[in-house]
This record gives sequence, C-alpha cells and structure tokens, in this order.
Amino acid sequence: MRAYRIPTFESTPEWQDVPVPVAGFGQVVIRVAAVGLCHSDLAMQTIPAALGESLGWVAPFTLGHEISGYVHDIGEGVDGLTIGEGVAVASPSCGHCWFCVRGESNNCVKGTVGRGFGDDGGLAAYVLVKTPRDIVKLGGLDPVIAAPLTDAGATAFHGVNRVRELLGAESTAVVIGAGGLGSFAVQFLRVLTPARVIAFDMSDDKLNLASELGAHEVLEGVGEATVNEIRERTAGRGADVVLDFVGIDATINAGVAAVRPGGAYGLVGAGGGSLSTPGGWYHLLPRDGQVFSYQGSTLADAESVIALAGRGLITSPVETFNADQVEEAYTRLHEGNLRGRAVITFD
Ligand SMILES: [Zn+2]
Ligand SMILES: [Zn+2]
Repeated sequence: MRAYRIPTFESTPEWQDVPVPVAGFGQVVIRVAAVGLCHSDLAMQTIPAALGESLGWVAPFTLGHEISGYVHDIGEGVDGLTIGEGVAVASPSCGHCWFCVRGESNNCVKGTVGRGFGDDGGLAAYVLVKTPRDIVKLGGLDPVIAAPLTDAGATAFHGVNRVRELLGAESTAVVIGAGGLGSFAVQFLRVLTPARVIAFDMSDDKLNLASELGAHEVLEGVGEATVNEIRERTAGRGADVVLDFVGIDATINAGVAAVRPGGAYGLVGAGGGSLSTPGGWYHLLPRDGQVFSYQGSTLADAESVIALAGRGLITSPVETFNADQVEEAYTRLHEGNLRGRAVITFD
C-alpha cells in the first residue's frame, strides 16, 4: 500500500510503498477512512535527528495522527470490536504510568511517540493500532467529522473543560485564533457553558466561521487595543477566561493582560511567543488567577467530543482532499487559509 512518510529526519515527506499491517496479539488494524492534518505534521519535517531519537522516534514513519476508519483485522486477545465497525483512534498512552492511572493520559510518560509522530500513522490505506485502549467507537458518526475530533477537537475540549468552573452566568470567554482548534473551542464553550464568547482572528473567513459556530462577537486582529476591547465588553473586569490558540508575543501579552482577577489564561498555540516582563511578573499575571499551558488531550476528552458530535451538538468544520491532494492540503495548512481542518479521505 502507499503511505505518506517522512523518509529520514529533516526531510520532506513522500509516498512510499509499505506492506499492509497485520494485527498481532492484542492489536487491531483499521482501514483508514479519514485523516486530519495537523500543524505539528509540518514541524515534524524539520525536527533534528538527535531530538527525534531522544523522543523515541524512528524514521521512516507514516504521518497522520487524527485517524478514523473501519475495523479491518482484529488480533488475538482483543474483544469488543467487530470487523467493519466505525472507529476513531485517540492519542496513544500507556495506560499504567503515574499519569495514566490518574486519568491524565495527555501527560503519559510514553506519549512522546505514537501513530504519525515517530511511528506509523494514518496517511495510508491501513494503520496498525497496537492497543485497543486507544480505539473510540463512532456509533453512526461520519468518519470525516470524527477524524479531527481525536486531536484538534479533543485538545480544544481539554482547555474548555479545564476552565468550565470559571464560566458562570455572567461570564465572558475569549478565544484567540479561530482556526483548526479555536473553531472547536468556540463550539465547546457554547455547548458546555453559558459564557458570552468573543473570538479574535486575523482572517475574515475564520471570523465568519466562528460566528456560524456560535461566537457571540468576532473581532479582527490582536494588538495594543485588545485589552481595552475586552474590558469594554466586560464591565471593566476583563475576561473570565482567555484561550490562546496562537501563542505569539502579541496574543500572549494581550491575552494575559485581559484576564480578570481570579480568571484564567490558557496557552495552547505553539507560536513560540513570550510574556514580556517590564516591572516583573508580579503585577503582570492575573491576580489570584491561573496561567497554564498544555498539549494534547486525554482518552476521556476524545470520548467526550465524539459523544458530543454523535449527538449533533458540535461538528467538525473541514475541507476534504483525496490522497492525491495531500501536498496541496499541507500547503494550504501552511498558508493558514483553510476553513477549519484539512481532512484527507481514503476510499
Ligand atoms: Zn496534532
Ligand atoms: Zn501512561
């Protein structure tokens, strides 16, 4: 079968011929239906070999970590699955480290390597899942909607779920960046909380999408005016919660400064920005509040978002491409002009 792979560290991905995987003991093979493309796929192409190896990565490997499809082959020792059943695959975790047993599988000590990052992922007709623990049943949910939920959707859910208690009747939540993750965050805020939702982005298309998905107000760009724009809309208090899916200097500084005392700023976007500290951090951080960052999502996050989508309460805004268009799809992702997530479909 064809697989879209990173051939060696620091090289451009290409289609290669590889054998169709076979399910060994305790394993499952999925016939891939849809794969969401992630910004981290682009970063993987430039990761130095020393860093890749320190994470436990082996090249070549097949890209694609937002995977859905149909159960194709079930290894011995696996029960509860049926051939042909629709499934998605959540972020991998070991299930027995200190973090996993506490339900924090996003912080799993073995979570640095998995399908599509250092091991074979889903940009191929079939993918091997080494433990059924990672498999989430779709019920009747469309695999195209499900694929981006396993990472982009579940990651956005993790952030919203973490700050739900701050979002009461009179609250305001700010989403910075209404792209692949932020467009999910807008929906989770609307479904899970009564908060007024304000979305910021540079792109009109993304702001229109955020409005369609339920943002009460959308504002263009983040800069020096942003803190006042938020204060004006929150009786001078500031936002109860800011979730930053961009993470550059401008969004971090405005986002942290716009949080009310006791509120929270969450950094999700890996834009590489910093918090500037004139006068020190003491007066800069939200008084009595929280500043946090995280990566990824737990198994429970993935199950929750698929349940919400299965009930029709959220959807995945996607642009679909076939396998021959994978390069075009990555180019569009790099240019930042996708409407929602790029999803590659296989037939
Ligand atoms: Zn990802
Ligand atoms: Zn673990």
